[in-house]
Parts: sequence; structure tokens; C-alpha cells
Amino acid sequence: MTRPSPQPVSPLRLGLESLKGIGPYKARQLARLGLHTLQDVLFYFPRDYDDWTQQVPLSRLVPGMEVRAVGRVVDLDGRSLGPRRQLVTMVIHDGSGELRAVWFNTDYVLRMVRHGQWVALSGKVRTGREGRLEMSHPRVERIHSPEEHRGRILPVYRLCQGVSQRDLHLAVRSALAAAAGHLEDVLPEDFRREKNLVGIEEALHGIHFPEDHDHLRRARHRLVYQELLVLQLAMQLHRQRLQKEKSVPLEVTAKIDGRIRRLFPFELTPDQNQAVAEVAADLARPFPMHRLLQGDVGSGKTVVAVYAMLAAVAHGYQAALMVPTEILAQQHYHTLRKLLRKSRVRLELISGTLSPKQRKELLGHIKAGTVDMVVGTQALIQNDVQFARLAVVVIDEQHKFGVEQRARLQRAGPWHPHYLVMTATPIPRTLLMTQFGDLDVSVLRDKPPGRRGVRTYLVRPDQEARWWQFVRKKLDQGRQGYVVVPRVEESEEAASVEETLRRLQQDQLAGYRLAAVHGRMRPADKQQAMEQFAAGEVQVLVCTTAIEVGVDVPNATVLTILEGQRFGLAQLHQLRGRIGRGRHLGHCGVFARIESEEAQQRLQAFVETDDGFRLAELDYRLRGPGHMLGTQQHGQAPLYIARLPEDQPWLEEARTDAARLLAHDPLLQQPRWAKLRRLVLRRYGQVMDLSHVG
Ligand code: ADP
Ligand code: MG
Repeated sequence: MTRPSPQPVSPLRLGLESLKGIGPYKARQLARLGLHTLQDVLFYFPRDYDDWTQQVPLSRLVPGMEVRAVGRVVDLDGRSLGPRRQLVTMVIHDGSGELRAVWFNTDYVLRMVRHGQWVALSGKVRTGREGRLEMSHPRVERIHSPEEHRGRILPVYRLCQGVSQRDLHLAVRSALAAAAGHLEDVLPEDFRREKNLVGIEEALHGIHFPEDHDHLRRARHRLVYQELLVLQLAMQLHRQRLQKEKSVPLEVTAKIDGRIRRLFPFELTPDQNQAVAEVAADLARPFPMHRLLQGDVGSGKTVVAVYAMLAAVAHGYQAALMVPTEILAQQHYHTLRKLLRKSRVRLELISGTLSPKQRKELLGHIKAGTVDMVVGTQALIQNDVQFARLAVVVIDEQHKFGVEQRARLQRAGPWHPHYLVMTATPIPRTLLMTQFGDLDVSVLRDKPPGRRGVRTYLVRPDQEARWWQFVRKKLDQGRQGYVVVPRVEESEEAASVEETLRRLQQDQLAGYRLAAVHGRMRPADKQQAMEQFAAGEVQVLVCTTAIEVGVDVPNATVLTILEGQRFGLAQLHQLRGRIGRGRHLGHCGVFARIESEEAQQRLQAFVETDDGFRLAELDYRLRGPGHMLGTQQHGQAPLYIARLPEDQPWLEEARTDAARLLAHDPLLQQPRWAKLRRLVLRRYGQVMDLSHVG
């Protein structure tokens, strides 16, 4: 009997010690970067490049140029200028001319460089003493000869302790030589040709050691496209799966629609009508709705939420509205109660202030199905409540969107409820497409009629007295206001709110009725303060960003934000949404000590535009996606090579292509896509639960 000969191990799976020049010790260090096999190394993309293609002879340098200047050290000198003051000077020469470099109070250069050695100095050229060109504190690199890197684009990798750029260059070079030829391309050749994409081997050579900028561009295009295509395929497959889940179809007949609309004291705006139509279409289907409703503060999202919930109740099912805070839960409850006054809907608030007995009783009713609609914080509802027939869940995320978006409730039957997630922070399109591809999106752009809007002012320290004078005038006219204190540390929140309250009571707002609200108060006290404010008994509410989440007092028109530089754009905009909700024009004054360019841009943008979508886009560009999403909590899609929003065009292309592929071949079963399918499953099979794909 002959045994089948063992499968030869692909060099891609070999460990790093198999590479020349890498022993067990280095291999262990590299493992700390997640690099175990040759394949890992091939796909460890540079974080940046060192460009040696633009070398300028020293004689051609002019002041203002930012260059890497190459020459031989012809003079090197360290001199003391007094106690603890030291000057290091270096002169380099390249045959065509020379360049001087100076460093103050640091002498590492003396230890690093010898006379006669070749170096590259990177920095900005300026005119120094006696009109000679010089660089101040340039970066220094030692090189063996002027030719060493000339004309090359060198990769710069992310490192960890014990691993140098040289180590990685060596490892990548060897891995490319040993294993790149064994890679199987996941994209079939005709597809690549049609899309003008280079093969995987060329792409990997080009991304690590490009011959020129064009080579790098083509390599990057291929890899970025592939990464985004794989992501888009995974998301669209995930959607397919969600559509296989069962839910209860809730058809909104003309009769039901009429009954719901009669409850609203106003006509819906065109955008609200559109959103309602989209929601109604989703609800009518036998699989769960997963819809995101985006709309600036005050755009009227509540109506859409109520519509969806009433659709459930009309069919004899239950609905839940979950919000991030207790205050907001109270607020929504009162709004809904008013709206539903003329209906027979049984609405309940599950509040943190209920006594254990009340609570037990309420939970019993919900479980028995004698309550139709429940409002409460996400924490309470998710942990405690069992529903008899829950069919619609609305999650009002406000600005915290993305963190808890995947919250799931216990199922109340053999079906999944329909989900509507609402956010007042518009999510930029590229983020939607990479992080939330499984959600359908409705947008409220226009605002309900009769809004006066808000004027926003940046209040510099010397203008603060005038601002308070203005606030007093508005209060005397009968308006109310907020003063918002930044939330530096949770532990200090109470103290800083109380302190501000005292200061204002003694000084700028002496004689007016003020109250404080912060996260450290007992819910009952908080509620009392809020109620007094809503009733007009309290004129000014001093608070942290607690008011950000949905407080609605139309007579409150003056907002003062202290230390505005500490707030993000989205948050500032949320805060501003609290005023200007009624017949009166709102006024927002932002006090700020501006300490950075970024803060300046942020506050300037805030003063200049009231368009939440534009501000969100800007916030995203200034501070990145992590900031918007609360980062790590989100379990999806790290991108290794694509950069957003810059790569958006490729993202759009990948998305269209993914849809096209799946339209022909819903589970990617054709042999030509087998490798691509395996890659999709390897990367996203678990996080996106693609078990139906194979
Ligand atoms: P959001 O939750 O999007 O911040 P709300 O749903 O709280 O906004 O609505 C803000 C205010 O606008 C509420 O007072 C609401 O009654 C009012 N409103 C909503 N839709 C309309 C409409 N179509 N016409 C007039 N007023 C509306
Ligand atoms: Mg709201």
C-alpha cells in the first residue's frame, strides 16, 4: 500500500525563523507585532514611506525648501555657550556645495556621527548667519554612501520594542523573495483586467518596495480596492442573513395610517413623510427592520418613532422606546403621553425612581401584555424587562450613536422585533458604509416650520461681562437659559457644576433663580430641578452635557457654554439644539480659551454653520472616526490599508461591485469566486456572523 505523499507546506505558512537572518529571538520579537508567518509579513503594510527620490544637490538648495540633504560631514563641533547651554554645529559637503546644521542643547549628534561620514539631513532650509544656508535641528540619518538610497521610496513600518525598521525591511524582503510567488490571487484575472488592477504579487512588491510613485499607486489601488471589496461583500452578505430572520409583518393600512396621523397636532414635513413611508415599507415585510434615522436636533425624529411604535400597537403588539438617560426617558414619556392622550394606548415609563413594589407590578403588566408601549433607559429595559409581544424597538441614541447600536433585546416570541435607531449626530457616508453597512438609512434634513434658529457667538474673555449683561436682558424679558460646564472628570463633575452655580449666584446672575443638574444627583432631585425649569420657576439651569440629550423647553433661548474648547463639534451642536426650539430666536455664547489650531477651526466652524451634517463631516475630518464612534467598542472592520474619507471613491466602487457580484451569485458559490469567498469568511465570518455562506 502506498501512502499519499504529504502535502508540501506552502512557504506562506512557514514561521519567520525560516528566513535567512532571523533567528528565534528576532522571531519572538516580531511575533509581538502579530507577525508569525511569511504571509503575515507580506500583509504587514507600511504605515508611511521615506521618499529618497527628490534629492537636491546642496548647491541648488534655496531658503524655504523642505528636503533631505545628503553630504559628507566635513566639520562637526560642540561648544558650550554657558551653563547648560550648548551648541552643536555640523557642515556637510557633496561636491557641489555645502550646508550647515545647528542643534541647541542636545548633543546626541556628536555621539551618533563621525567626521567624514555620509549623512542625510531632513528639515527646512533657511538663511543663517553671514547669509549661509543652514538647517536647525534637522533629522539625521547615517548612510553608507550617497548612492545608498538614492531614487528609492522606502517603507516605514509600525514598530515595537526590540524590532527596528531594518529588521522589518529584512524580513519583508526575504518573505517577498521566498513566498510572494506562491500567493493565490483572490481576484480572477479577467476581473482584474477589466478593473485595471495589478496582480497580488506585483501589488505586494509595490506596496513594500515600490520602484517609483506610480508603482506604489498601482499597488495601493489594488490592495485598497480588495480590502474594501471584501468588507462590502461581508456587509452585504450579513444583510442577506438578517433578511432571513423572522419578524412580524406590520402592514400600515390606510386606515391605520389615518388613525396615527390624527394624533399629531401638525402636518408632517416632506422629510418626515418620506421617513415614515420608508419605515412603513420595512415594517410590512416578514423580516426585521434595521433602520437608522438621522436628523439634526429638532428635526422631528420623535414623530417617526411614534409612528413605528403605533404600527405595532395597531396590530396588537408591544413597542419599546429606549433612551440613554433617565432625564430623556422622562421627557419622552411626557411628550408621548400628550400625543397619545386621545388614544387608548397604554403607555408606561419604567423609571429608576419607581419603588420596588411599583416596579414589580409594572414589569408584571409588561410581561402579561397589558401594557402597549414602554419608555425607559436602555439599561433598565435591556436588563429587566420581559415583554409579552414586543414587535418594535426604537433606540434614541442621540450623540452616543454607534456604541450601543447593536443592542438586542430578549426576544418575546419566535420572531425578532423591528429596530429603528435614531441619531442626532449625522454619520458621514464613508463611516456608514464601512461600519454600519447593515443599516438602511432615512434622513430628516429639513426642519419643522416656524423655527427661528440660533445665533452663535464666540465670546472672548474681554467680552464675557457684556455677554452676561445680554443674558440678564433676555431673562428680564421672560426667557430662560442654560449654562453648560464641561465634564472634565466624572468625579469632579458635581463640584464644578456647584461651584459655577455659586459663582453665578453671587456675581453675574445674582438675584435670578438658578438651579443645578448633574450626574451625581439623585434621580428624584434631578427630576425636580428639571420640572421646575420646565415650569419656568427656575430661570437658569447650570448643568453638564446632561441637557445635551433631548431636553425640550421652548422658552429656554439663551445658552452659555463655558470652556467651549473642551467640547467636540458634534457635542457643541447638540447643545445648541436645546435652544431656538420655539417662537423666539436662540442665542448661544461659547466662552473659549483657544489653545490649538484644531480648536480654533472647530469653534470657528461651529459659529459659522448651523448645518449638523456639515459639522459632522468636519468633526470626522478633524478628529477621526474613533472620536465619533467611541472607538474600540465597535466590533467591526478595522481597515489595514484603506484610509477614509480619502479613499471614498474606491469605497463606492467596491460597494457597487459587491452588489453586482452578489446579484449574480448570492453566496459566491461559483468556483471563480471561491478564493475571494474564503477570504471574506476568514476576515468577517465570525464578526458578521456569515455562517449561512459556508
Ligand atoms: P428631535 O428628536 O429630532 O430632536 P423632536 O422630535 O423632539 O426633534 O421635535 C422637535 C420639536 O418639533 C417638537 O417640539 C415637535 O413637536 C416639533 N415638530 C416635529 N415635527 C413637526 C412638524 N411636522 N411640524 C411642526 N412641529 C413639529
Ligand atoms: Mg429627540
